[in-house]
Amino acid sequence: MAEHIQSRHELTNPTPMMKQYLDVKNEYDGFILFYRLGDFYECFFEDAVLASRVLELTLTSRDCGEGRRAAMCGVPFHKSDSYVSRLVDKGYKVAICEQVEDPKSAVGLVKREVLRVITPGTVTGGEMLSSSNNNFLASVCYGKSGASVCFADISTGDVSVTFIDSDVEARLISELGAYQPKEAIINKSEAECPSLAEFLREKCGALVDDDMGKLFNFDKARELVRVVYRDEMDKLSEPEIIMSVGAILAYVKETQKSDITFSKEINLYSRGEYLDIDFSSRRSLELIDSMRGKDKRATLLHILDKTSTAMGSRLLRTWLLRPLINPVAISKRQDCVADVYSNRVLREELSALLQDTLDLERLTARAVYGSANAKDLRTLYLSIVGLPALKAMILNSECKNLKEIAIKLDTLDDVCDLLGRAIDDNPPLTIREGRMIRPGFNPDVDYYRSVKDGGDGIMRSIAEREREATGIKTLKVDYNKVFGYFIEVTKSFTDQVPNRYIRKQTLTNCERYITEELKEMETTILTAEDNLVSLEYELFCKLRDFVSENNERIRKAAAVIAELDVYSALAEVADKNGYVCPEVDLSSELVIKDGRHPVVERFVGGAYFVPNDTRLDVAQNRLMLITGPNMAGKSTYMRQVAIITIMAQIGSFVPAKEARIGVVDKIFTRVGASDDLASGQSTFMLEMNEVAYILNNATKRSLIIYDEVGRGTSTYDGMAIARAVVEYTLSKKIGAKTLFATHYHELTALEDEYEGIVNYNIAAKKRGDGVIFLRKIVRGGTDDSYGIEVAKLAGVPNDVVRRAKEILVDIENGSTITLGKDAGLKKNNVEPDLFTAIASTRESEVCTRISEIDINTMTPIEAMNILFELKKLLEK
Ligand code: ADP
Ligand code: MG
Repeated sequence: MAEHIQSRHELTNPTPMMKQYLDVKNEYDGFILFYRLGDFYECFFEDAVLASRVLELTLTSRDCGEGRRAAMCGVPFHKSDSYVSRLVDKGYKVAICEQVEDPKSAVGLVKREVLRVITPGTVTGGEMLSSSNNNFLASVCYGKSGASVCFADISTGDVSVTFIDSDVEARLISELGAYQPKEAIINKSEAECPSLAEFLREKCGALVDDDMGKLFNFDKARELVRVVYRDEMDKLSEPEIIMSVGAILAYVKETQKSDITFSKEINLYSRGEYLDIDFSSRRSLELIDSMRGKDKRATLLHILDKTSTAMGSRLLRTWLLRPLINPVAISKRQDCVADVYSNRVLREELSALLQDTLDLERLTARAVYGSANAKDLRTLYLSIVGLPALKAMILNSECKNLKEIAIKLDTLDDVCDLLGRAIDDNPPLTIREGRMIRPGFNPDVDYYRSVKDGGDGIMRSIAEREREATGIKTLKVDYNKVFGYFIEVTKSFTDQVPNRYIRKQTLTNCERYITEELKEMETTILTAEDNLVSLEYELFCKLRDFVSENNERIRKAAAVIAELDVYSALAEVADKNGYVCPEVDLSSELVIKDGRHPVVERFVGGAYFVPNDTRLDVAQNRLMLITGPNMAGKSTYMRQVAIITIMAQIGSFVPAKEARIGVVDKIFTRVGASDDLASGQSTFMLEMNEVAYILNNATKRSLIIYDEVGRGTSTYDGMAIARAVVEYTLSKKIGAKTLFATHYHELTALEDEYEGIVNYNIAAKKRGDGVIFLRKIVRGGTDDSYGIEVAKLAGVPNDVVRRAKEILVDIENGSTITLGKDAGLKKNNVEPDLFTAIASTRESEVCTRISEIDINTMTPIEAMNILFELKKLLEK
């Protein structure tokens, strides 16, 4: 048995084929190389081991030189797509190396080249894409004055870019969290930006290509950007922007090995154009993803997404990630929703027509990349053939706002007409077999086809004539790839065969012959067939190029359709769920009457959900301090306020009787440790991180939700922090509209001390030993926490409940905790005097340590460390 080789780098004297493999592999290091060998794609060495594990393939081996063997595994070439997509889906990059000359005519080793590479962020094929999601590739360029991040969906051609000048890491994470790219290229190494890389990997499931400095070359980037975005150059001022966009262009060029399909427009956005929702807030509000696992039904997006098209679905998602802050733009959207809302007939017709519109953006992109087949063009045709009807329907309606949009809709008549005349109803998946072009489109196609189809008829008539001439009843005319057309005669009749038959092959029961006539016929037919296939291919490519040339127009039409679709969906949802159109303005008030949580109401059943009012402003009602027992509905209430605000700012109707929303610039939510168990991170540190982010970024225009801040630490610490946070948030430094839920009932005393705080509680009623949740928010603090009743409700044993009540009474009477009569526990291991003595030396140690600290020069982390140290000291 030959020795197995571990790594390809050990091999110094490879076989010629292996040498070719290694040369390609070295060029595509970092990719899993699929190397074409006959009817298989093979992987070798480390790739083979990995692919066999991920794809559950058998691992074999092959000679690689020096009498050693390389690990090998392979997949049949015609099944490769699904294997490739599984690898890409798992975050690997794959390079496909093909034989680029005919093995039959090749002298020596067949030439091979990588013709295609597929990476998670540059996928254009159908199977690997989810229709309702964009598939983003991100590029992050750190620079001197800040950082720029660019997002491109090359399956649709959308490109957005922004520049970040302060709070770089946190803002980058917020942007990346919004777009959830599948792959990111960065101009730093992972070691230089560990938290960013980790975030991309853990929270976005992205492949991280770090250290890609070579793609971020300013001069090259500027050249590429100039070619693609000629008319937008003056917009793209910062060098970091040029480099992040340029890096994407370079990377796409490298991976696609074809033209870049990007739209000629680039979306340059900046902070302050959209409502800013950071990553953890978006998550805890469950806008797009659910906190509990993968259940998408528990998200706002799921409730709202009644769109009919993939484009609409993606647009709605984008809107939800980027709500607006300009009331004029918001009310424009509202007017359109209102149009469809009040016109049910139109809504139904619209959604019926939209249902037939498939993914124009991606179909067009495939045409541009040259990967579209005739089926794609047929689908494209079917998707645009209804556009004139759609347009007419809206233009004939009463909807004056929708009309303004529909008037811009290019119905693509020429594209539709051409594709309709040219492409067959049911073309094959391949483009090299003909059967794509519709009869009547091209006279030459029709002619070749008649000759080719005539073949069968000619064959039948020759067979008949020959049977008669020779008297052989079993004589057949048939065709195969090796001999072409032949006459077949069974053994028992071979003596009747005339001389003009030329014997070609002897089988067990029969002989096969050809004749001059057959040869001639064959040439005509085969030539016609060849001509037909190549002519159809040529015509098809022209059609595809035509679509590609019209890419910009089709994209624009797709954008109009997406917009109409979203309005129609939002109207449908508003009607079905009883939402109202909120008044959105620049005031600083948030007034909601009978507001509901759109997701929770669906889960508890509409009729059981108790609606609640809200009033927040930046004067007397700045901070709602909310108390109430566990499970009362505090978290639900606060989230509902944030969600209603977000819905209003995307232009949607909202779940309420009435609402007036003064636009907010940012929404922050800090959800208490115990509500965020899923993430499993060290919670107190995380909590303080988020609080710090809020305190550093919130403005008077923001909306802040603090849900049980301070819960992650001891009672006094927690209460102190909670109070300090309330005070700071309320102060001139921020002064934002705030909802603050807390289990520290002592904080309700703040209402009397500070202007702007209003106490609320979510009412519950004791009934006997139990508690009834009323779910109604009312003025005033609670004095009763009902914790014990909730414990009982939850099934805590009666003994424990009884004992808890005893203790509570004691505490309320101001006495120290007494032990129960039969508890029989006493802590008696340490001599009291000695204990006190030790405690006091420790305390003095701690005091000295504290007095040495210079708070002014300390960073928050150092403070945390010292706190930690002090606590250790006390516990010693
Ligand atoms: P808290 O934060 O006070 O502990 P939650 O907001 O988590 O309470 O609410 C607990 C549960 O009560 C929710 O999961 C929901 O099922 C229900 N709930 C909350 N608010 C309402 C409401 N307004 N109407 C009906 N059920 C509600
Ligand atoms: Mg809660």
